[in-house]
Amino acid sequence: MLGGSLLSGEVWRTRDFAYEPVEARYYRKLDGERVQCLLCPHECVVASGRRGHCQVRENRDGTYFSLIYGRIAAFHNDPIEKKPLYHFMPGSLAFSLATAGCNVNCKFCQNWELAQRRPEDLPFVLYRPEEVSIRALEWRSSSIAFTYNEPTVYTEFIVEAAAEARSRGVKTVLISNGYINEKPLGDLCEVVDAYKIDLKAFTESYYREVVNGRLSSVLDTLIRLRERKIWTEIVYLIVPTLNDDPKSLEQMATWIRNNLGDDVPLHFSRFYPKYKLKNLPPTPITALEKARNLCLDAGLHYVYIGNVPGHEGENTYCPQCHKMLIQRLGYRIIKNHIQNGRCLHCGNEIAGVWQSF
Ligand code: SF4
Repeated sequence: MLGGSLLSGEVWRTRDFAYEPVEARYYRKLDGERVQCLLCPHECVVASGRRGHCQVRENRDGTYFSLIYGRIAAFHNDPIEKKPLYHFMPGSLAFSLATAGCNVNCKFCQNWELAQRRPEDLPFVLYRPEEVSIRALEWRSSSIAFTYNEPTVYTEFIVEAAAEARSRGVKTVLISNGYINEKPLGDLCEVVDAYKIDLKAFTESYYREVVNGRLSSVLDTLIRLRERKIWTEIVYLIVPTLNDDPKSLEQMATWIRNNLGDDVPLHFSRFYPKYKLKNLPPTPITALEKARNLCLDAGLHYVYIGNVPGHEGENTYCPQCHKMLIQRLGYRIIKNHIQNGRCLHCGNEIAGVWQSF
């Protein structure tokens, strides 16, 4: 996951490089040179010389700084299906990049080498906001994906890079835990095109004990994205015995249908033992199938199974005529029967963002 191949002129920097941090945008000053970060619901109060919980924002003599503005620790050109976004320009490429840091601490973190590290622990390439979309165009990527670690922690950079991308006709997607306050989310919604939100469970106790966050804040984000008409897909990683209770899955499906609508794609993803949860087995495929059937029965139109290549749950079916619309194999599109946003068989409108360049 770390790294990426360089273009000429790009250089990997190490901790010896004199990196200049950039003043953070979302904070307020308190007495005694303390600051309070207002970027995410943790709202850390940080003394001078200390960092916030995410380890990428630092108080220097009463001024708060981002330590990861443009400090890119990994980049790759990925299929958009890898994010996963299934209803957003299928078959296109997303120039995908990451920094260090995250504002939560999932015990199963699948990208802990980036997300649970301090900036100085990783080599990096320095990007200016406009360089991200220039690089995306060079790589023939239709979009830029801020992914692998939590994009919220470098919102300042993303807002500027996404505005530059829009001016060049490149779309921007965020792969996020949704743990962000209303004001920075609103600034992002002005310039980004799609969000994938990890809904990690549907109980506060799981968020408290396994994630170190709050479910209610993530649900607020989902509703705000809906209100702002930002295309959103949801991923739910099923961790055996911890968040696979049918009752809470049913409650989640009902909540999604009532608050976001039945057209929001929901992806059930397979867990593999990683980081601090190596004691649990991979998710049984039957558990993914049960969860999918339960949510389809609850009225959601597009429910997928991820991390199981070749499974029929990877495909998109028309909710009206039930014929297959997009056949996938892993990250590849085998067939696509959506034309101008409609089912080629019956003409039903299919929710999503379908045009590419
Ligand atoms: S973004 Fe980081 S510093 Fe700011 S409130 Fe969240 S965890 Fe704390």
